[in-house]
Amino acid sequence: MGDVVTPGKDDDNACVARADGGEDDDVVVVLYDAAVTDAFRATGSPSASPRRASTAADDEDVMTVDRVKPKYLPEFSMKSYYGVEERGESSPERATKRRRDGKPLELEIDGTAREPTKEIAIGGVYVKFPAKINPHPAQRMTMAKIIDALKKSQHAMIESPTGTGKTLALLCSTLGWLEREKEAYKKSAAKVRDMHEAWSVARKKYEDALIAFGHRNDKDKASTVKAEYGDGWDASRPFTCKTDVPPPPRVYVCSRTHSQIEQILRELKRTGYAPKYTVLSSRQRLCPLKKSDADCQDMLGDGLTQQERITSCAHYNRHEYVADHMNKYAEKNCAWDMEDFNRVVNEFSACSFFALRNLQATSEIVFCPYNYLFDHNVRRKMKLDIAGAAVIIDEGHNIEDVCRSGTSIELSMAQVAEAIAAFNAQSIKSAPGYYADVYQFLLKISHFLERIIGNTWEGQKEVVVRSHEIVGCVIDMLGEHAVELVRNLIKTPDNAKPTHNGPLTTYMNLCEDIANILHLVTKTPESYVIIIGRSVDINGEECEGMCISCMEPKVGFSTVAEQARCVILTSGTLSPMNTFEAELGVEFPIKIEAPHVVPTSQVYVELSDAIGEVTYKATSGVGASRFAQNLGKYLLEYAKVIPGGMLVFFPKYSLIDVTLREWHTSRLFAQISDQKHIVCESRGAAGFVDTLAEFNRGNATGKGSLMLAVFRGKVSEGIDFKDDSARAVFCVGIPFPNVFDVKVKTKRDFNDLPKSRQKGMLTGSAWYSAQAYRAYNQALGRCIRHPKDYAALFLVDARFREGGQYMMNNISKWIRKSVTACGSVNESVRNVDEFFKRTKKMLLEKEIKTESTDADVDETQNPESPVEYKAHRNENIFNAIGCEGNRKLCDAMDALHQAALSCEEPMRVNAIAKATTSIRALTYKVTNGSKLAKQGPGKVQGVGPSIGAQIDYFLEHDKFERMEYYLRGERMPH
Ligand code: SF4
Repeated sequence: MGDVVTPGKDDDNACVARADGGEDDDVVVVLYDAAVTDAFRATGSPSASPRRASTAADDEDVMTVDRVKPKYLPEFSMKSYYGVEERGESSPERATKRRRDGKPLELEIDGTAREPTKEIAIGGVYVKFPAKINPHPAQRMTMAKIIDALKKSQHAMIESPTGTGKTLALLCSTLGWLEREKEAYKKSAAKVRDMHEAWSVARKKYEDALIAFGHRNDKDKASTVKAEYGDGWDASRPFTCKTDVPPPPRVYVCSRTHSQIEQILRELKRTGYAPKYTVLSSRQRLCPLKKSDADCQDMLGDGLTQQERITSCAHYNRHEYVADHMNKYAEKNCAWDMEDFNRVVNEFSACSFFALRNLQATSEIVFCPYNYLFDHNVRRKMKLDIAGAAVIIDEGHNIEDVCRSGTSIELSMAQVAEAIAAFNAQSIKSAPGYYADVYQFLLKISHFLERIIGNTWEGQKEVVVRSHEIVGCVIDMLGEHAVELVRNLIKTPDNAKPTHNGPLTTYMNLCEDIANILHLVTKTPESYVIIIGRSVDINGEECEGMCISCMEPKVGFSTVAEQARCVILTSGTLSPMNTFEAELGVEFPIKIEAPHVVPTSQVYVELSDAIGEVTYKATSGVGASRFAQNLGKYLLEYAKVIPGGMLVFFPKYSLIDVTLREWHTSRLFAQISDQKHIVCESRGAAGFVDTLAEFNRGNATGKGSLMLAVFRGKVSEGIDFKDDSARAVFCVGIPFPNVFDVKVKTKRDFNDLPKSRQKGMLTGSAWYSAQAYRAYNQALGRCIRHPKDYAALFLVDARFREGGQYMMNNISKWIRKSVTACGSVNESVRNVDEFFKRTKKMLLEKEIKTESTDADVDETQNPESPVEYKAHRNENIFNAIGCEGNRKLCDAMDALHQAALSCEEPMRVNAIAKATTSIRALTYKVTNGSKLAKQGPGKVQGVGPSIGAQIDYFLEHDKFERMEYYLRGERMPH
């Protein structure tokens, strides 16, 4: 068993849980305090609550504010802060005009300052895209497939290599669709309202008619009225108009970490859209006072009077002003990012956590890390309503792990003992109801763990309980009333639970989390394994406890996929998609692998065998020392010829430590430092911003930096190192999971079971490899981020050379095409030097050529492949026509193009050729619209008569979907 943590409680622990190699400290768990929000709703807004008249009691309350007010706030009373004394009111409008120092707030929102956009027709939706960018095929394919999935409510998997502008495509297409849905929603809501109104009028007439007859209870007369008005007007059926207003469209846009969400928000500002949205994050991350969940709850909890609740946290009192201000962005056709939000929060000295929670009620889009949706306990606590919502997951390559960990839990004996001690200290263990259930639950778990761990023979680390024994194990743990006990813990409504009880809140939440996972265990025992025993955690300390580990990601994924309108997974590394699909247990009817935007001439990839000792055999003891020395000498040579920054990825932190130590003991550190500024990725989230800043500082000097980082760490996923910030990536070793980790071992065994094989899941070893290569490909994709970028990638592991094509199949397709190998470091360094000089010159020449020509077709983008070239031609035809011409025809052309691009090889070549011919004909039709419109069907020029007539037919009858099938050479299913 690995390290034992309390999921849902502690970010740092969550980080430690994944720290074997890399971790994501930014994905934090939120404890959502429903009681506080409910209390807040009941109280009304701070602005609406009574700001105190000048009585003795008021002075006390003002003192209460001062008591919790942070020290940096000036000594103003709440009244003077809001201008109550001077103005006699405390409206948000007043507050937005004044700051504590009396100067006006500078929070202007300027909608005209946004980047200009153009409209592009994609899959029947008009998408606003930044005007100065022509979406390239990868972006077009991504947008078309996202719109297709949203329109058809189907799950989709979209693999688009890193650096292809996937996030922008994702946002523009989703927001374009959302705009359209909002319009449709407004119309249908208005229609339903009209129906309700008409029904009310008719009902009134019926009532009046009954009264007019004078005898409401006269059966004969009543039946005469009924006969005239029809059935269904009885008072016993107060409202028979069955149609309800449909729920407004809602989208969850998720990524892996908060820093990736911040990047998405920055991209959102580049689009032409201004939706209402919020970002979900934890109190731990957002509270300006750095209060814990329990502390915050105590400050705002039910035990306080209404007045105390309003004033016990001054930041809380002002959060509504921030929400009001952020809502103004949408009104003024603007979008905001976290920098804008933090600026507003600072100006108001308000609570960011509750401001963002407040925005959730009116949000059309919710941004959050995807573990919030797929972690069973977090989703429940945050009361995220995903029914009917579209869920879009960016950087979804880790979704399997997140789904499995979101439906698993780890618990140490120390935690259980602490919780029992807390109950004993409060002397409420014998209190009836919920307290008693929680206390009994803890005692039973404690006794069970002591018994099982005590009975293990010396040398045995774990007891693994597998699927067929699981239900028996749960009954053994909780007794014969196990099901009832679990149900009581999870079904007790929030308002029936004790609140404002200090440390006990944490333990009650923990018990509820365990009960929820046990509930899932009893529902799907075949998907679980329980591991009980003593193990060594990440700090090297022995730790005893239990891990209830979910083996199938589908348990977590399907709960979301079944409720949501659709789930769209996007990432640069989703392949192999069919096994990914099998692991998630949900069918993805829409799948696509988009091409990379960078031609192969701009990528140098080397199977680095020149220092054969830098391999799997040389990572410990004497081998590690030799490895570090060799690696240092090797990097030193490359550092002399590589311009800009260099990234070096290692499988684990300990290897970085060894490497640095060895470099310091020899002259290597100083020698490399002469060429590049050496920076090392720090463990954990703290310090990461500083590390990155140091790396950028080194690059800014012109010398360049060399970053030593780990696979699966913050540097390896989600951070863009474009242009000179990183011109080379060295992937040292392959980041296979720890083969001795009991969780890894049980998962491999599970995948090898016949029932898993029948479901189409990967074999144990294939799953094990897939974990490693996803992380590997993510790291390789850090440094090519746009079509004019170029870089050298080094696969530093002799196994690639030895394994040949079999090994290479694990590497992303766009990298595989460019692989080379050299006999010696000297030869390799020469090649690399030439590559950088040649590519720089080529791009410079292209730039000059592009500036000096006014060609309709941008042939510089990718003239190498005839297929891609034709796709580019098609794309440029769209851009030339835009939406100026006949919109229906533009849609048709787009459908042709997308259908052709999404075809599998070898049909893709033919489909693009066919589409090119048809599009040329359609272009002619668009540009000569009025003349050709008169010619009628069958007159499309430039294509054969049968294709032309067929396309005409589709166009005339709006049969775009059939046209797609036609172009693919397939029959449309009925
Ligand atoms: S600032 Fe917000 S999160 Fe922090 S204690 Fe106050 S209300 Fe709670």
